[in-house]
Amino acid sequence: MLQPSANGMTYRGYIESLPGGEDDALRRAREAAEAADLPAIQVSAAQGKALHVLALAAGARRILEIGTLGAYSAIWLARALPPDGRLVSLEINARHAEVARANLERAGLGGRVEVRVGPALESLAAMEGEEPFDLAFIDADKDGYVSYLEAVVPLVRAGGIIAADNTLPDAVLEPEGDSGAMRYNAAAAARKDLVTAVFPMLRGDGVDGLTVSVKRPVPEGA
Ligand code: SAH
Ligand code: MG
Repeated sequence: MLQPSANGMTYRGYIESLPGGEDDALRRAREAAEAADLPAIQVSAAQGKALHVLALAAGARRILEIGTLGAYSAIWLARALPPDGRLVSLEINARHAEVARANLERAGLGGRVEVRVGPALESLAAMEGEEPFDLAFIDADKDGYVSYLEAVVPLVRAGGIIAADNTLPDAVLEPEGDSGAMRYNAAAAARKDLVTAVFPMLRGDGVDGLTVSVKRPVPEGA
């Protein structure tokens, strides 16, 4: 049951009431993005914490993000990096990138995060030969997801993680449902060089999906 109980408690509210959730710096970043009229489509604090844990579990030193917005998820991810680690975040909207950079600076992460402005597919194409990433987080336009996956797999190290946000849209409940996120889930699940699971997450008042893939050290059957 995702509805509030009689006393107004929700599963997400419960998770976000635990210690180690959104702190002042994250709250300030969220409020600054709202004040700058950015859409409030960032991950929830519960999702942000999950991304942070994933990055730590991966021992991430290099993280790639597609879709920066105001850097709310970038802050959660970058905080999992060692001091000499790096997060590269790709954003098409120059104004979003500007708000993001200011938020990262205020959060003390300006030196660890680089926001690259441009269409993600172009930025990704220019990244060939860069040091491999331990974790990639895909969270931009959903129609681009399958192309992002194809471009990102070669940039992630063997054993590394690719996570994609918003992968349980309402369309999954419709008989003829179709969406970029659903095409992404199907493409990731079908790839022999990935092992993929869809994790239901809590966002807003409902369910959202985080699709997590691990890149096989050796492709199956090789
Ligand atoms: N990851 C953020 C939310 C990202 S919202 C967070 O949770 O805090 C999606 C972002 O993707 C928006 O800022 C949007 O401008 C950007 N975007 C949309 N299409 C894009 C593209 N083709 N290339 C790069 N970024 C894109
Ligand atoms: Mg998202």
